[in-house]
Amino acid sequence: MSAARPPDDLAVMRALADAVTICNRCGACQAVCPVYAETRIEPGVARGKVQLAAAILSGDLPVDREAAAAFSTCTTCMACEEACPSGVPVVDIVAAARAQVVEARGLPWVKRVVFGGVRRPRVLRAAAEAAARLQDAAFKPASDRDLRRLRFPHGLAARRAYPPLAAHPFAHPGPLRKAGTGPRVLLFPGCMVTYVYPGIGHASVEVLERAGVDVVAPPEAACCGVPLEAHGDLAGATELARFQLDQLEGLEFDALVAACPTCTSSFVHRYPRLLAGEPRYAARAQRLAACAYDITSYLVDVLCVGPPTRRLEATVTYHDPCHLARGLGVTRQPRELLTGIPGVRLSEMREPSRCCGGAGSFSLAHQELSLAIGARKATDIAATGAEVVATSCPGCRMQLADVLSQTGDSRPVVHTVELLAAAGR
Ligand code: SF4
Ligand code: SF4
Repeated sequence: MSAARPPDDLAVMRALADAVTICNRCGACQAVCPVYAETRIEPGVARGKVQLAAAILSGDLPVDREAAAAFSTCTTCMACEEACPSGVPVVDIVAAARAQVVEARGLPWVKRVVFGGVRRPRVLRAAAEAAARLQDAAFKPASDRDLRRLRFPHGLAARRAYPPLAAHPFAHPGPLRKAGTGPRVLLFPGCMVTYVYPGIGHASVEVLERAGVDVVAPPEAACCGVPLEAHGDLAGATELARFQLDQLEGLEFDALVAACPTCTSSFVHRYPRLLAGEPRYAARAQRLAACAYDITSYLVDVLCVGPPTRRLEATVTYHDPCHLARGLGVTRQPRELLTGIPGVRLSEMREPSRCCGGAGSFSLAHQELSLAIGARKATDIAATGAEVVATSCPGCRMQLADVLSQTGDSRPVVHTVELLAAAGR
């Protein structure tokens, strides 16, 4: 173990020094933490992480490998925050601690290379398009659904099933000038929709245009920055936040809408926090936060869309994405949209808002834990008897398809807007 760093060096965590002191160690977070349910160790749960952050801040513990491991094993699902009687901002503390780990220990070279590409939208696009062309060399089709498995599997990765990268990334030029009298919406696609599930982007355009909306897209498909912040690259995440605000400056739109709740949360919560101290950006970040919506809440709460007319005879179960249900408080709207489709019956699973274990790159960095958390979700889904699984997050869709395939369960997993688009006008 390296020597404990003096507290004066802990610049990133210092902003949350008061927050760590309000944890009363009651343990209410333990019962709801998906990581603790699998690991049964104190650093897995919020209480352990908060106490670790407090010990680092006081100089009693160093920012070492053990601390880095404890802070990295968190899906940022916010279940602990929902259960916490003291209002401890666990996810902010975890984010600050991860940034502190990078400050103290640096980013591993692989992440430096990958994040360096993610920070540059054109490099990211070129890399994604090259990877899509070459993916058949590394992956072979899985037998049970539209997923791929590694041709040369190694360890746990042998079990994982991945969706293919899109041969044609999502792109929507949008009308050059306002075409109708309806609102103008900027559809923020995000990386998962752009490069993995372009069908979610096209379905989003379809349901928005059907509701009389003019849809425009950002000039560049760029990452919202969450993967970088999740790994402690605060500088990279902040750079991407500035990039997004700069590229949207001057564009006319009434609302910013995304089909990925993690992207929406970036505009609603992260950018105002990351850019609060920057006079050039702070007010703009606040303005965007006030007009950013998840697509399901925009369709229901703002557009008040009516039900589609085409019948879809199906029993559907719905998984609540963490960043949508707890991050944005949106649970009613996707259910209203689904049950509004003639012929659709909703069969609720046990604990629909329990984390699926995906959590973006968490599913790659902690594969065993991610699969174990997801296995509970697969069991809950199977118990519903539903024919289709719906969710409102492309990342959850990917994880659910994988964990269902682990049990040989081939029922389809779709985004809510894909079912709406299929149901027509
Ligand atoms: S529920 Fe909140 S106050 Fe209680 S131990 Fe967990 S973080 Fe601390
Ligand atoms: S955010 Fe989720 S995974 Fe992380 S400590 Fe809280 S309950 Fe556990």
